[in-house]
Amino acid sequence: MYVLKFGGSSVANAERIKGVAEIVVSAKKKHKQVAVVISALGGVTDELIAHTNGALQGEENIKETFKKVETRHYEAVKALVPVQRQTQVLGNVVHTLNQLYDILKGISLIREVSPKTHDLVISFGERLSAYIVSEGLKEYVKDAAFADARQFIKTNGDFGNAKVNFSKTNKLIREYFANTKGTHVVTGFIASTDNGDTTTLGRSGSDYTASIVGAALKAEAIEIWTDVDGILTADPRKVAQAFPLKQVTYEEAMELSHFGAKVIFPATMQPAMALKIPIWVKNTFKPEYEGTIISHKASADDHPVKGIS
Ligand code: ADP
Ligand code: ASP
Ligand code: MG
Repeated sequence: MYVLKFGGSSVANAERIKGVAEIVVSAKKKHKQVAVVISALGGVTDELIAHTNGALQGEENIKETFKKVETRHYEAVKALVPVQRQTQVLGNVVHTLNQLYDILKGISLIREVSPKTHDLVISFGERLSAYIVSEGLKEYVKDAAFADARQFIKTNGDFGNAKVNFSKTNKLIREYFANTKGTHVVTGFIASTDNGDTTTLGRSGSDYTASIVGAALKAEAIEIWTDVDGILTADPRKVAQAFPLKQVTYEEAMELSHFGAKVIFPATMQPAMALKIPIWVKNTFKPEYEGTIISHKASADDHPVKGIS
């Protein structure tokens, strides 16, 4: 099993999602089993948070901007799903967006949002994107199947930053993957409590979803596909001379990310490290480029300092 996770920039629009599909097709040729984890379309989580804040000031603040969120998702469906299947898929997307709007309207009426409701609102980003990607992917990978991670990732009720219950989660993931066939396209970032309340794993938490699923299934490797060449010596948006590292240890990656290297969510390393599953960080814009491998092995070069964050 290989678990491939695609971040928001990799699924920003239909063009980018087609690139994702090609990467999945090529992985399917090389590996017996592949699972995919998807983040919200780039920027959507931020937009949903802005909508929650807007709704708190009244419904009139969100009416216009909500149309933009709707249009982005509709456009993705229209560009990815062939006409014969579009009506059905659009119908499901409209239904989900209506549910989201009703919740936002509720917030605007009571002018109050609890952490629990906030998590429910932002969960829609991944629920929409993973569903749309799974439907688009069917054109390339016939058995692509949408999987809502709330069914198998179980957490406590720390909304916004929920803690995973690994004994329950591992069992549920193994059961789910054993009982449902196909190439699963899993929602990143979201989970649920034992009561069925929706939770989230922390901002940028889709990386963690990939590692949780990969560890439960004892994957051969986890691949984090993003918009840069791997883990670089510094944030390339801030340091022009930053260059990609070929190899770092789990500890080094954890340290870099804990201190701010946004490229990988800090907790991602833990489940993989326990089982010595390598994590590759790769660039969706340049799939042929090797990227960075995070493993137990330290690199034998003359760069004892790996990076600055
Ligand atoms: P995704 O949407 O794929 O999850 P993120 O925006 O979360 O992508 O993470 C990738 C971004 O992390 C890069 O575009 C880069 O600007 C930033 N970044 C910060 N520090 C580093 C680093 N040391 N190496 C690579 N990227 C970094
Ligand atoms: N969509 C979520 C966020 O923006 C999770 C992720 O992208 O990993 O934080
Ligand atoms: Mg990220």
